[in-house]
Amino acid sequence: MSTVGTTGLTPEQVALQESTRAFVRREVAPHLQEWEDAGEVPRALHVAAAQAGLLGLGFPEEVGGQGGTLLDSVAMQEAFFDAGGSSGLAAALFTSGIALPHLAAHGTPEQVDAFVRPTLAGEKIGSLAVTEPGGGSDVAGITTRAVRDPSTSSGRRGDFVVNGAKTFITSGVRADFVTTAVRTGAPGHRGISLLVVEKGTPGFTVDRSLAKMGWHCSDTAELSFVDARVPAANLVGEEDGGFAMIAEQFVVERIALAVHAYGVAARSLALTAAYARERETFGKPLAANQVVRHRLVEMHRQVEVARTYTRSVAARHDQGESVIAEACLAKQTAVEACTYVVDQAVQLHGGTGYMHGTEVERHYRDARILGIGGGATEVLTDLSARLLGYTA
Ligand SMILES: Cc1cc2nc3c(=O)[nH]c(=O)nc-3n(C[C@H](O)[C@H](O)[C@H](O)COP(=O)(O)OP(=O)(O)OC[C@H]3O[C@@H](n4cnc5c(N)ncnc54)[C@H](O)[C@@H]3O)c2cc1C
Repeated sequence: MSTVGTTGLTPEQVALQESTRAFVRREVAPHLQEWEDAGEVPRALHVAAAQAGLLGLGFPEEVGGQGGTLLDSVAMQEAFFDAGGSSGLAAALFTSGIALPHLAAHGTPEQVDAFVRPTLAGEKIGSLAVTEPGGGSDVAGITTRAVRDPSTSSGRRGDFVVNGAKTFITSGVRADFVTTAVRTGAPGHRGISLLVVEKGTPGFTVDRSLAKMGWHCSDTAELSFVDARVPAANLVGEEDGGFAMIAEQFVVERIALAVHAYGVAARSLALTAAYARERETFGKPLAANQVVRHRLVEMHRQVEVARTYTRSVAARHDQGESVIAEACLAKQTAVEACTYVVDQAVQLHGGTGYMHGTEVERHYRDARILGIGGGATEVLTDLSARLLGYTA
């Protein structure tokens, strides 16, 4: 049973949802458990997703994308989850959504050719590295340092020498390049730059592939930089202008994570509704109990409220409105819905729901990161308080 409503979507968006579902059913669903067990997604999937028009969605055609609005991406992602894609898989397959936007918007033509186009074609994998062992919520506090080399003897003058560490980096084990937030200037948000650090750069290493509660098919890395020499040509946009470029993407990232949350919740609801019709206890189907039916309706209500609000915020963003606070609220609304729904999905599946390999068990584990990553709930609520004027 599909729980994705088409209200408010254009015929093109509905068609996009159909082709996305077909892609997930053909290319993803039969293999997902295998990738969960392997701890990573194969590169061939990136190529297939690019050929299906999914990777380039939301990126301008001038940089190798398919174009499209944020609402188009929302519609595509809803269908991705509806057909059985997981949050972990979306994180691994669409890491380009966080690694590339700064390069697409502010990169040189050479950077676009070297990193953006091949990644949107599925031929390269990129990561975004902001979080450090010392903290992730306080982006303005990062300490990984990049210093311009003044000498000419050790390489090209003006190259950056990078020292520091990053952690929890999605797709960092597989990445061919990492869009890395580094401190080039004074303390605070004005001293941060973005550098593209390529795999194989001497001094740049993937130290560990991290084991996690969920998102098992999404590789997550700890990275270190010891006198890693990065060409000046790999600076993205203006020096010390990194924070603004990162912040520019916050709305899109938070809306994407909201869709992860209600998308996974909608899928868990559909699985649970089907199970409740077929599973019998005390001589009758679970759904014959009023308390169970009402639980399913409550799950439905929370999903649809999150979906409707998130879509409306995405549409307002597409119309050029500033929706920074609203994107935070959409994420929180969807995360709360998801937390409730995946918990109830496991409950109504009984012991089966607790078994490794049962889909609702995976969604339950995968969902836990959504209130932490991309801005922890408390941090986003505090940002909303400031933006909405609820301060002393
Ligand atoms: C699976 C996974 C994938 C990730 N992928 C990436 C990635 O690709 N790139 C990347 O850069 N990062 C990534 N992250 C990091 C993620 O963005 C951070 O974990 C997140 O920003 C929180 O940072 P932290 O873990 O350092 O928690 P901290 O900043 O130490 O905060 C800990 C907790 O304290 C609370 N808190 C924090 N600040 C406040 C406050 N001001 N007021 C009240 N409460 C507060 C919140 O509950 C928060 O969860 C990933 C993390 C995980 C687990």
